[in-house]
Amino acid sequence: MLADKDRIFTNLYGYQPWTLKAAQARGDWDNTKALMARGQDAIIDEIKASGLRGRGGAGFPTGLKWSFMPKESKDGRPSFLVINADESEPGSCKDREIIRHDPHKLIEGALVAGYAMRARAAYIYIRGEYIREAEVLEAAVAEAYAAGLLGKNAAKSGYDFDVFVHRGAGAYICGEETAMIESLEGKKGQPRLKPPFPAGAGLYGCPTTVNNVESIAVAPTILRRGAAWFSSFGRENNKGTKLFQISGHVNKPCVVEEAMSIPFSELIEKHCGGITGGRDNLLAVIPGGSSVPLVPAAEIWDAPMDFDGLKAVGSGLGTAAVIVMDKSTDIVRAISRLSHFYMHESCGQCTPCREGTGWMYRVMERLRTGDAEPAEIDMLQQVTKQVEGHTICALGDAAAWPIQGLIKHFRPELERRIAQHVREAAE
Ligand code: NAD
Ligand code: SF4
Repeated sequence: MLADKDRIFTNLYGYQPWTLKAAQARGDWDNTKALMARGQDAIIDEIKASGLRGRGGAGFPTGLKWSFMPKESKDGRPSFLVINADESEPGSCKDREIIRHDPHKLIEGALVAGYAMRARAAYIYIRGEYIREAEVLEAAVAEAYAAGLLGKNAAKSGYDFDVFVHRGAGAYICGEETAMIESLEGKKGQPRLKPPFPAGAGLYGCPTTVNNVESIAVAPTILRRGAAWFSSFGRENNKGTKLFQISGHVNKPCVVEEAMSIPFSELIEKHCGGITGGRDNLLAVIPGGSSVPLVPAAEIWDAPMDFDGLKAVGSGLGTAAVIVMDKSTDIVRAISRLSHFYMHESCGQCTPCREGTGWMYRVMERLRTGDAEPAEIDMLQQVTKQVEGHTICALGDAAAWPIQGLIKHFRPELERRIAQHVREAAE
């Protein structure tokens, strides 16, 4: 179990105030000027050496992403950092805790990361439903300006840097990085084709890096304690500490910072008081937010909770939002409900997603009630394959994967429902 002294988020549960004074007492904003004086390339190299991978779901190496930003401005164009606080993935609720209770870690991280990538300003795009969190964030940003930590000569570093908080309006798709950029520009939030990636052409056509809240908030601590300290947790390719969010059928749902690669069983037993009704009552787990396939109980129990460990059991770490389902769960209904979510949140721009999400949901509903033909299970599988990989953004994949996981692991349950429906109709 991660020792308290190794936790980055020391106020995750809000036992202390979020304010600047309290954050400084916890070590935030401690000689930020000296961190920045190391130089932009040195900061990027340290983040690269730490092994930090993006905490928003995709796991792209953070330092590498920062290094894509231009060192010199082309045609006087500024560069921007966009911080993705649109946390809308079902099951995900970690960025909310950071913003509520530790906003200065994020704001200091924005300055340090923005400086390293030579950005003029950071835009924090916060989920529209996070009303109180946005209020805290705006107040914390105002505190930082008043203390000279942002704005001209930020933190006496000689670098000018602004932070703007932008509230979203409740669309899941605006969490996709290019839809977020469109939304920030005042347009309808629809993903752009990639490439070009935002580092080449992002906000207002300028070089932009989009990073998740957690990825940015851990940066100052990594720089203070060193890449070697951060990378001493986890294992090769899966380094550092990570916020896990465990919901569903556990005795104590929680958000907790742990070392990467902690086994699922340890996470559940040590932090969540175990599965409701005991280990034998576990049915399945969606380990990384709703966009990754479910994993049955027997396969997840000993799995290391990291990118490779969950890939090995046919799923993914995603945002590390661990949705636990015990045997009281109607698993077909649960996945059908997710299908409805993706259908509702599809931006409608590309045909396989716009039409496919509706198709998948309607077939899922028939399978839920059993009012379907057995051949529809294979047809549904085929539809998911037509959607997967054939869309502009990852929402199409995200809609397909939970269904593929259901068919792979719970086909007998789907067949049982159809057979039962036939029997009941004949009676
Ligand atoms: P992606 O793999 O396309 O990209 C990841 C990041 O790496 C992006 O910032 C992208 O610009 C960058 N990148 C990738 N290849 C690059 C290249 N060749 N050159 C330069 N930059 C490159 O993934 P994505 O579509 O951004 O994100 C999908 C993930 O988002 C899913 O895994 C899901 O878990 C997660 N997600 C999270 C939430 C949430 O609430 N946090 C919501 C929905 C989805
Ligand atoms: Fe929009 Fe879906 Fe296409 Fe993404 S995959 S761009 S959400 S229609």
